Amino acid sequence: MAFVNENFLKLQANYLFADIAGKVKAYKEACPDAEIISLGIGDVTQPLCPAVCEAIRKVADEMSSSPGFHGYGPEQGYAFLREAILKNDFLPRGIDLCIEEIFINDGAKSDTGNIQELISSDAVIGVTDPVYPVYVDSNAMNGRTGEKDARGRWSNVTYLPCNAENDFIPKLPDRTIDVIYLCYPNNPTGTVITRAELQKWVDYALENDVIIFYDSAYEAYIRDAEIPHSIYEISGARKCAIEFRSFSKTAGFTGVRCGYTIIPKDVTAKTRQGGSIALNPLWLRRQCTKFNGASYISQRAAEAIYTPEGKAQIRSVIDYYMHNADLMVSTLRGLGFDVYGGENAPYVWMRTPADISSWQFFEDMLLGANVVCTPGAGFGPSGEGYVRFTAFGTHEKTAEALRRISEWTEDLRNN
Ligand code: PLP
Repeated sequence: MAFVNENFLKLQANYLFADIAGKVKAYKEACPDAEIISLGIGDVTQPLCPAVCEAIRKVADEMSSSPGFHGYGPEQGYAFLREAILKNDFLPRGIDLCIEEIFINDGAKSDTGNIQELISSDAVIGVTDPVYPVYVDSNAMNGRTGEKDARGRWSNVTYLPCNAENDFIPKLPDRTIDVIYLCYPNNPTGTVITRAELQKWVDYALENDVIIFYDSAYEAYIRDAEIPHSIYEISGARKCAIEFRSFSKTAGFTGVRCGYTIIPKDVTAKTRQGGSIALNPLWLRRQCTKFNGASYISQRAAEAIYTPEGKAQIRSVIDYYMHNADLMVSTLRGLGFDVYGGENAPYVWMRTPADISSWQFFEDMLLGANVVCTPGAGFGPSGEGYVRFTAFGTHEKTAEALRRISEWTEDLRNN
């Protein structure tokens, strides 16, 4: 008889964005004429850039001939893409990596979930709170998180609150953890980490044998020259950090699917016998067993963003989204809301007024302005009292959503 993995039963029935979609759908059914604008889920809206489309057309021609056909590729990714990544994303920042340390994947979500397979099942994880839900949920599926309390906190997870009171800077944990997930620029708060703060984390990890899982899916949105793009800009990080990158938000690849994970050869974990073992060869072993590589087509498409045209084209799309972020920050602040993030990230994090819960604010704004945001509580206990807006809409829809929010807020104040 097969018994279910009961860890799944401890999870909320739905992933956060499925819950939101359900509520929006119910509202749409009740009010079919409502024109809803979503500033909720973080999917992009702008088309792939011409350099990427040209590469995809070229690869379709190539694959249509016998000599150009590509079947299974290397599990860790094609050398042409790994070399382009090394040359463009790391060497110019003085980061010392080699291509065996780069693993191409089908997007960062899979690997931020899968990476925990390298760590023992009793490892204690720490997360900044609020946080991208995948880190905690994927550990819960493996039974690593304990039991959930009424506030939605897992007993075996160390939560490091990040809120307006501490300027969104997580404190180092005061109890033992084995792994810490850091995400900068942060989803959902849109805040960033300084070099000095990140150095504190690397020093802490080295002193305490902690591994850092560093998610920099939004690094392309950093505008401040002082903010690190990669954890490997920080001295010592090669020994304790694994980094996740994604082309999804950098180049609109949410539907193409391609990203990469960096596992330096110096990152080790302890064995029960008292030794230590490098994680890089274990991940290669894992990938060769469970992953048949990202598609040749998506890897050629990703390569195109490193050409001079590709670089300029993706930069202009990022600037397009950041124009939305600027408008959201200035409009919402102008309305008197407390607003954070949005300067080096495509997310704006806003405190809900008058102690309104984040789900209540979500519903009030959906009904009152027909605009969707994401309730902060869906990202963890410390997200309560906040909502997230994304900058990934079109200029027109973002401006219209902000106009409606302004009108709705004025109406509330006048009534
Ligand atoms: N990491 C963070 C912090 C994200 O917000 C997302 C997507 O929203 C991902 C990873 C997943 O990206 P991908 O599309 O590469 O799977």
